[in-house]
Amino acid sequence: MDFELTENQRMMRDMTRDFAARELAPIAQEMDEEGHLPDDVLTKMAGAGFFALSYPEKHGGLGLDTTSYGLVIEELSRQAAGVAIMAMVHNSVGCYPVASFASEEVQAKVLPRMAAGELAGFCISEAGAGSDAAALRCNARRDGDHYVLDGEKMWVTNGARAAFYVVLARTPGTTGHRDIHAFLVEAGQDGVTVAKKEDKLGLRASDTVVISLEGVRVPEAHRLGDEGEGFKIAMQALDGGRIGVAFQALGIARGCLDEAIGFARQREAFGATLADQPVIQHKLADMATELDAGRLLALRAAWLKDSGRPFTREAAMAKLFATEAAGRIADEALQIHGGYGYVKEYPVERYYRDVRITRIYEGASEIQRLVIARSLLREQ
Ligand SMILES: Cc1cc2nc3c(=O)[nH]c(=O)nc-3n(C[C@H](O)[C@H](O)[C@H](O)COP(=O)(O)OP(=O)(O)OC[C@H]3O[C@@H](n4cnc5c(N)ncnc54)[C@H](O)[C@@H]3O)c2cc1C
Repeated sequence: MDFELTENQRMMRDMTRDFAARELAPIAQEMDEEGHLPDDVLTKMAGAGFFALSYPEKHGGLGLDTTSYGLVIEELSRQAAGVAIMAMVHNSVGCYPVASFASEEVQAKVLPRMAAGELAGFCISEAGAGSDAAALRCNARRDGDHYVLDGEKMWVTNGARAAFYVVLARTPGTTGHRDIHAFLVEAGQDGVTVAKKEDKLGLRASDTVVISLEGVRVPEAHRLGDEGEGFKIAMQALDGGRIGVAFQALGIARGCLDEAIGFARQREAFGATLADQPVIQHKLADMATELDAGRLLALRAAWLKDSGRPFTREAAMAKLFATEAAGRIADEALQIHGGYGYVKEYPVERYYRDVRITRIYEGASEIQRLVIARSLLREQ
């Protein structure tokens, strides 16, 4: 067993760490308060390759392994999780279905644009279909060599800025997961509109929107995979996406631990610093231990994926543990800050809000437990 990162992995981590400290940290608080990401940050991110992480070099991607991808997401999240989510969704559930299931011709046309920073969003959730994604109702009616899409998609990350959407829709009149198809839709197409922008608790630099689809004509060539393969494609994309969410949570948790250590070292109470108090030391030790345990689970899931082995259960375990541990770490970091943790002057207040969603999206904790339990029961 080898716990060393490769030279390439270390290089990506260090490059991202420098980028995040230089370009994101100074404006993270402002982006959060204004609920907005300046365009030039996106341009710089595209220049650094953050929108080209995991797809083939022949189409403009960096062709990185999952561990490198995870380390990039962790480093971006350490400074600005609201920015990291944009790269995360774009690379995993946005680009992966195109890079894996679109025809070579569509890939050659679309992936270089995605790599250059034309963002991708992923549209599976609807008002009545979240955890139970197979309950989605968005329609895909066949019309000659086209499909006509009608419906409304909720919670679309990157939705307001995206150039592309991966949309899951079903044959009219069907239920269940077998008649769900996946499509690549361009934002500029007739009938595609951003209906609403959500005002969120955290990750406020990223946009989360409702996308309305009215009579959107999609050529057959833009169907991803075969007819009826859409749900399988979405679940595969989410399996990989969950590893990214685990790393995102770990990045936020590391920010919390760093801030807690810094604060404990300088804050004095009862004639000593907080860092001198055994109770605070124990809290820091528990935080660091949980962080490392989450990281090991996330690295194992990434390694399994890159080895071409099954990783659904391990990705679910990594997401479940890392996101729940990150929630506890954020809570303790805020506690160590006392009242100062409750005001916007200290970044821990933002981390505390940002980390909360990691237990909900790409499969809530309850759903990860279902995935893990089902896999265990199938095996026995
Ligand atoms: C900021 C943000 C970004 C998002 N980005 C995207 C995106 O880019 N694309 C996209 O398609 N979606 C996105 N989502 C949607 C997200 O994936 C869903 O919110 C999530 O899957 C949960 O669905 P829901 O909100 O409908 O909750 P529900 O499914 O209604 O669940 C509510 C609660 O019930 C629990 N629950 C549900 N079923 C069970 C069960 N069988 N057993 C036990 N407990 C259960 C859940 O775990 C949860 O705690 C995003 C959401 C947010 C808030």
